Amino acid sequence: MRDKISLGMRFRAEAEVDFPRIDDFFEPIVQSIATHDMKVIRQKESSRVVTDIGLATLEAGPGKLFLRVEADDTASLNRLKYALYGPISFIAASEKPVIKWSGHDTGLTPFDELRVVRVSRASLITPHMRRIVFSGEDLGRFDRMDQLHCRLIFQPKGTLRPEWPGLDANGHIVWPEGRKLDTRVYTIRAIDTVKGEVTIDFALHPKAGPATRWAMEAGPGDIIGMVGPAANGLEQAEFYVFAGDETALPGIARMMEALVRSATGHAFIEVDSPDDVPDLHCPPGITVIWLFRNGKPGGTTSLLEEAVRNVSWPADLSSVFFWGGCEHKAFRKIHRLLRHERGLPRERMVFYSHWHRSLSEEQIIAEGAAAYLPE
Ligand SMILES: Cc1cc2nc3c(=O)[nH]c(=O)nc-3n(C[C@H](O)[C@H](O)[C@H](O)COP(=O)(O)OP(=O)(O)OC[C@H]3O[C@@H](n4cnc5c(N)ncnc54)[C@H](O)[C@@H]3O)c2cc1C
Repeated sequence: MRDKISLGMRFRAEAEVDFPRIDDFFEPIVQSIATHDMKVIRQKESSRVVTDIGLATLEAGPGKLFLRVEADDTASLNRLKYALYGPISFIAASEKPVIKWSGHDTGLTPFDELRVVRVSRASLITPHMRRIVFSGEDLGRFDRMDQLHCRLIFQPKGTLRPEWPGLDANGHIVWPEGRKLDTRVYTIRAIDTVKGEVTIDFALHPKAGPATRWAMEAGPGDIIGMVGPAANGLEQAEFYVFAGDETALPGIARMMEALVRSATGHAFIEVDSPDDVPDLHCPPGITVIWLFRNGKPGGTTSLLEEAVRNVSWPADLSSVFFWGGCEHKAFRKIHRLLRHERGLPRERMVFYSHWHRSLSEEQIIAEGAAAYLPE
């Protein structure tokens, strides 16, 4: 390992990973890590990842990826390994990289950032959107506008004594008695740490997977775990463009409520029909344009792409902020339009593929970059 940057913390580990196509994957891996609430500092040959729990470095060598982590306690060291293992194995799923750590053996540790919350109340805010308000303690870590998303861990209905996963010395999740629970990524629609409440809006889609089924049936007392937050959020700008389908509506609504009253721009939101339009509060200078599929399945129209294509952008694109989320195919088209045709700088946009028309989340994770990243 060439990069020996160290903060002199108590626990350390390193790994040398065989990675023939590291040159193709290093940048997407580092970018993915940077969206998980970690500060990435680029150096000549390596990237240094600084977090509130420790330090990690990633370095690309010929056919190799070198990793190093250090932290002051065992749970944080395992958490750092997980923070690297997750993006590396997801983004480079096709490469099947094997990460074997050497250094301090930290054993099995709890998932420190996990918060347990219970359904307090639930209601349909439109025919295809169920709002669930959860109660819990110590939710402050999620109360941020720069990191809006979280991963939910669903306990089976009726669970009285939930058990939660831990992290092993490889940074892998270990499920209690090997029973993996369903997990999915959602956006925090609202949070009130004084009341101890967090609100998630679940789009109820017709091919309901485990998350949607859970949300349709959830009632007071039902339990989930939340980990995160992640995935970046609102940036200051002179001109805003928001674009997304119902899975992005919670994020768009939350950000529009947080904008200054003088903010200007557009929000393009695709839903099925006028019945699916909820109450929204936004500054008067933001034009909200609803795009209706009128019965066509989600992920089969080009409504969002056409809307974004017709935007009149300011000459100075560094004054713009774009935020969006939608089905993968539309995501790819809009991403190409923004980055390559309009030349929007990468740091002026936060845009994710929220779902894939023919894949469940588990299948997206198994496919990796091809089912998630832009072209
Ligand atoms: C960063 C991020 C934030 C997100 N925030 C939210 C949010 O706040 N609210 C929200 O509702 N969703 C949100 N999503 C999307 C949500 O995670 C996915 O829709 C997820 O796949 C739903 O899980 P599931 O168990 O219902 O379906 P899965 O088991 O993942 O998939 C089952 C089937 O349903 C299809 N499918 C999945 N999602 C949809 C959909 N939206 N419409 C139509 N078909 C679908 C798949 O193609 C698959 O065939 C977010 C996703 C990301 C990445």
